[in-house]
Amino acid sequence: MSDVIALLPDHIANQIAAGEVIQRPASAVKEMLENAIDAGASVIHLIIRDAGKELIQVIDNGKGMSALDARKCFERHATSKIKTIDDLFSIHTMGFRGEALASIAAVAKVELKTKQETDEIGTYIQIENSKVITQEPVACNTGTNLSIKNLFFNVPARRNFLKSDTTEIRHIIDEFTRIALAFPEITFRLTNNQSDLYHLESGKLKLRILGLLGQHLNNKLVPVDEYTDFVSVKGFIGSPEIATRTRGNQYFFVNNRFIKSAYLNHAITQAYKDLLSSDEFPLFVLFIDIDPKRIDINVHPTKQEIKFEEDRIVYSIVNAAVRHALNKYAIAPSLDFNLDAQIEALPSITQPFTHEKQQQTQQDYLFQSFGEKGKAHFLEKKEDAKQWKDLYKIQQSFENPAPSLPIPQSDVQANHMNELPIEENFTTSFLQINAAYIIATTKSGCVIIDQQLAHQRILFERFKKSQTQTIVTQQLLHPITIHLNPSDSIVLQNLLVDIQSIGFQIEWFGQHSFVIQGIPADFIAGKETSFIEQIIENAKQESGNLPDYRDSICLCAARLQAIPHGKKLSQTDMQTLFDELLRCEQPQFSPFGKKTLLKLTAGDLEKLIQRA
Ligand code: ADP
Ligand code: MG
Repeated sequence: MSDVIALLPDHIANQIAAGEVIQRPASAVKEMLENAIDAGASVIHLIIRDAGKELIQVIDNGKGMSALDARKCFERHATSKIKTIDDLFSIHTMGFRGEALASIAAVAKVELKTKQETDEIGTYIQIENSKVITQEPVACNTGTNLSIKNLFFNVPARRNFLKSDTTEIRHIIDEFTRIALAFPEITFRLTNNQSDLYHLESGKLKLRILGLLGQHLNNKLVPVDEYTDFVSVKGFIGSPEIATRTRGNQYFFVNNRFIKSAYLNHAITQAYKDLLSSDEFPLFVLFIDIDPKRIDINVHPTKQEIKFEEDRIVYSIVNAAVRHALNKYAIAPSLDFNLDAQIEALPSITQPFTHEKQQQTQQDYLFQSFGEKGKAHFLEKKEDAKQWKDLYKIQQSFENPAPSLPIPQSDVQANHMNELPIEENFTTSFLQINAAYIIATTKSGCVIIDQQLAHQRILFERFKKSQTQTIVTQQLLHPITIHLNPSDSIVLQNLLVDIQSIGFQIEWFGQHSFVIQGIPADFIAGKETSFIEQIIENAKQESGNLPDYRDSICLCAARLQAIPHGKKLSQTDMQTLFDELLRCEQPQFSPFGKKTLLKLTAGDLEKLIQRA
């Protein structure tokens, strides 16, 4: 048999490896910003064109590179940051694998200008397909100016895989926000297609949060400042009134590195549990500092996950710190602090950390009791377990948002034939069961409808029709102003036309604010803000580039406004509901694909009774 194995050419191997590190423009942004920070820059300017597809440029005033380093830095495993494998486990610098620039150079056209303070003249380098095509001296400022153009120009499959500009710019803003939050002492500027999205002067964390997430948060931020020898928790949390229905403004940093942790999120949600309903998410920007030896950070730079050696203690401290802050600022005056005493009594917290202490601590009664059921620790309490599940469910539903119109067409047709038409001459007297289901008798049996699902169908079709018919809008007596963070504001700006098409009078109001002056005639006032927040959240979850979001907007309005279970209805209400449902194009299904009604003939009833 002939030999079949061939070694991949270098440039292909590089492109494959690059795919791991640089998945989209935002990943390059992250790597470049982190390098600028590691270089000690105090001013960093990020310039983006066409959502990073055409240009990503980072100009910093950091320490720059020598002519030789400027060339070497694009080679795989070129790094000035690790010398031994042990260095990998310390997370004090931002990046540490020496792969970012090599990966970028494999998939983009790169230009670099860099100069060290002690050098008179800087270096200019141009790279394509990982090859240096120009290197010459250049007059430039101290620091580094790195441009990457036409990302994925040589990997068309990847370039085509990129999402809409709105989505990509949102990812870039997300990375920028995470980094700018962690380094308030650095001046940051972000310019997108020639206009400045942010210009953040160096200053205190609070100022940075306001600059990034919106000035409307002023006076709504509660400081958190808890210090133990084991771990410290600092930062700000939002007062309950600014909680939103989107998860947008939640930031955890461990040793100044952004991480995602459902577990720690839960520690915070729990602290707010009497203050917020389960579909509201508090704002927080929290920094946890802990001995790096006590955490296991996944060394893959694109992962943001972390494991704490003693995660329950961290959970308890974060939970207590947030409760303490809410309590101190009289937001939750009646909170119960019994458990704090226990947490505070833990040897890991009260005593400075040494190896001997750690061993002692682990044998300690309180420490061991953390895992035992029935002991005081609140993690084991049943109601907490329940809420944990609820949280999990919420997360799942966000991760798997209901697709728009998920009804398989074949189903709909089959049902059209089998079940319709419903005889129109049902009785004029209706029976409501459990404030949820309505029964009407017909000539040959009865029809049962689910009031909530039926109403969702009615509203969905009505909102959809309003796009083609003249829209009736009711003016609001008091216009509503909505403040968003810049990334959500970009999403909403793109949805405005669609939202207006169903009868909302909503306009961009400068900066990242919007004003609603009128709502559709069918819309019950009072839920405008949560409606807008939900639409933004849905749009953020949409993975593809939907041609328009109108269906999704109508779905959202229908879900929010439908009569809920538990609402008693009058005979007239029930009559109207029936009439309107039967006038719908697809009366048997809710817009989310659930069945709205059940038809039973006398024959069906007989069978049911016999089976029972
Ligand atoms: P890593 O950051 O993991 O070391 P990178 O590929 O991101 O690997 O960068 C390679 C090296 O290039 C860095 O270790 C650093 O020495 C140098 N470098 C990269 N960006 C800059 C910058 N903005 N200023 C100064 N040096 C830089
Ligand atoms: Mg790096």
